Amino acid sequence: MTPRPAARRLCDLSSAEVLAATAGRTVVWPVGSIEQHGPHLPLSVDTLLADAFARHIARELDALTLPAQPIAARSLPQSGGGLAFPGTVHVRGRSLLAFLEDTLESLCALPWRRLLIVNGHYENEPFLFEALDEVGRRPVAAGKEFIALSWWSLVDPDWLAARVPLFPGWHAEHAGLTETSLMLHLHPDLVADARPDHPDPPRPGIHLHPADVRRTTNQGVLSNTSGATAALGRDLFRHVVAAAVALVTEGAGLLREETP
Ligand SMILES: [Zn+2]
Repeated sequence: MTPRPAARRLCDLSSAEVLAATAGRTVVWPVGSIEQHGPHLPLSVDTLLADAFARHIARELDALTLPAQPIAARSLPQSGGGLAFPGTVHVRGRSLLAFLEDTLESLCALPWRRLLIVNGHYENEPFLFEALDEVGRRPVAAGKEFIALSWWSLVDPDWLAARVPLFPGWHAEHAGLTETSLMLHLHPDLVADARPDHPDPPRPGIHLHPADVRRTTNQGVLSNTSGATAALGRDLFRHVVAAAVALVTEGAGLLREETP
């Protein structure tokens, strides 16, 4: 099988080319964050992972990619460690929503048919979904299709149970086993050897202020990193890319009962 060529980056096109090159096509936009990810991972994890997923999904779909968006929603204590840890750069929710709506409306001026947003940052999700729901109703979006997904939402529960037996919930997989494994696969040079475990991950759906991050995290890690390997990262990466392509092309995976 001949390997597919790398996906074309939309912003590498000229203005003279862009209308013809995007007409009827799929555009993939990775959205991440700049957020603490413990002492062993860089601030760029969510952006790097969203970008890698987006590029590989785009290659399979013969789609165009947009540059990864790194500034995003505020990190929260129960899902990202929150602002107690230095390095998280965010905008307020109302700023993010306005930014996303403006950007999406502006993108709609191009004649692409489908926009796929690949999200890598837990706290972005409600803002992305609301912005798409808002802009999708506007006349400028007529005839266009929008799909937004967080990469972890594509992981099959059976696959997860087999590979991550002590799964703490995706909110707590922050800087944990799956993100560390994906980074070991994609960017091993950016992963430090000292990887803390936090055996008592916080529950989702609870917000306390002030938050005691020494209880809810271990140095910014919300769950365990032990057992993280590049091989697990590789398998998870392939699993998610395949699921994304199946979702976009066949609508597969939208309902839980479709799992064979
Ligand atoms: Zn993350």
